Amino acid sequence: MSAEIIDCKQIAKTIKRELTTQGAKLAGDGLVPRLAIILVGDDAPSAAYVRGKERDGAEVGIATDVHRLAGDGDPDRLTLQIRDLIDRLNLDYQVHGIILQLPVPQGVDEDMLLASIDPRKDVDGLHPENQGLIVQGRPRYLPATPHAVQQILVRAGHAPGGKHVVIVGRSRLVGLPLANMLIQKRAGGNATVTICHTATLDLPGYVRAGDIVIAAAGQPELITGEMVRPGAIVIDVGINRVDDATRERGYRLVGDVEHVGVRAVARAVTPVPGGVGLMTRVMLLTNVVRAARESLRR
Ligand code: NDP
Repeated sequence: MSAEIIDCKQIAKTIKRELTTQGAKLAGDGLVPRLAIILVGDDAPSAAYVRGKERDGAEVGIATDVHRLAGDGDPDRLTLQIRDLIDRLNLDYQVHGIILQLPVPQGVDEDMLLASIDPRKDVDGLHPENQGLIVQGRPRYLPATPHAVQQILVRAGHAPGGKHVVIVGRSRLVGLPLANMLIQKRAGGNATVTICHTATLDLPGYVRAGDIVIAAAGQPELITGEMVRPGAIVIDVGINRVDDATRERGYRLVGDVEHVGVRAVARAVTPVPGGVGLMTRVMLLTNVVRAARESLRR
C-alpha cells in the first residue's frame, strides 16, 4: 500500500479563493482588513515567517503593517515598550488583527503581552479568553495550526467524527487547542481523542490505536511505519531543521513523521513541506478577515 499524499496546496488554494471573495465584499463596504505584526529582535526564521505573512495577506487583500523593535537591552524595559505598542494598536480602529511574533527575546514577559492584546484582535487565538472559549465549545478565533489540521481532515474527506484521534504533543500552540477542538460536539469534531506527551508510557502502543494520528512533538521522524495502524490517516505538523551538508543552506526540513515507512502503511499522509505549514498560513488569514468583518458590528 502506498499512502495518498494529501494535496494541501489545493485545499489552501480553495480557501484563499473563498477569502479573496470575502475580502472583496468587505472592500465593497469600504473596509480593508488590516493586520499589525510586532517583530522583536533579529531572529532570521521569525523575519522570514513575517515576510510570508505580508505576502500571503497581500494576495487576498489584507494590508499588513510590521512594527519592528530592537531585541537587545533590558527585557523588562522591552516588555513595557511592547506593551505600549500593543495598547496603541488595541485602540486603533483601523487595525483588526494583532500578532506578537513568537518567540520573543529571553526574559520578555510573553504571557502578559499575549494577554494584553484585545481578544477581539487576537487573530493568533492565544489570548486566555480565546483559548477558554475553545474549551467551552464557542470559539472566536481558532489558532491557525490546529485549525489547519482540522480543515485538512475535513476537506480531504477524513472528517474526525467517530474516529479515534491520537495527538502526539500537548503544547498551547498546537496539541492542546487541537484536542479541545476535535472533542467538541459539532461538525469537524466528535472525535475520541488521546493526547500523548513525554511522560506517556508506550507511545507506539497509543499511536497504533489511532485511526487518525497527528504528530506535533517537534521531534524529527518520531512516528515510524511500525507505530502506525495500516490504513490510518497521518497528519505531520512537525517542522524540524536537521543538518544536511549536501544542501546549500546546510540543513533540510523534516517532519515528525518518518515518511518512507509511514507511507507504506498509512492510507493518507500530509507532506512536509507543503502540508500543515502551508495551510497554517492560510488559516491565519481567515482570522484576519473575520476580525475585520466582526469590527463592523461594534
Ligand atoms: P512544543 O515543543 O511546544 O511541544 C511539543 C510537545 O510534544 C510537548 O507537549 C511535548 O511533551 C511533546 N513531545 C516532545 N517529544 C515527545 C516524545 N518523544 N514523545 C511524546 N511527546 C513528545 O512544540 P510545538 O507544539 O510548538 O510544535 C510541535 C512541532 O510542530 C514542531 O516541530 C514545530 O516546529 C511544529 N509547528 C509547525 C507549525 C506549522 O505551521 N506546521 C506551527 C507550529 C509548530 P511535554 O509537554 O511532555 O514536553
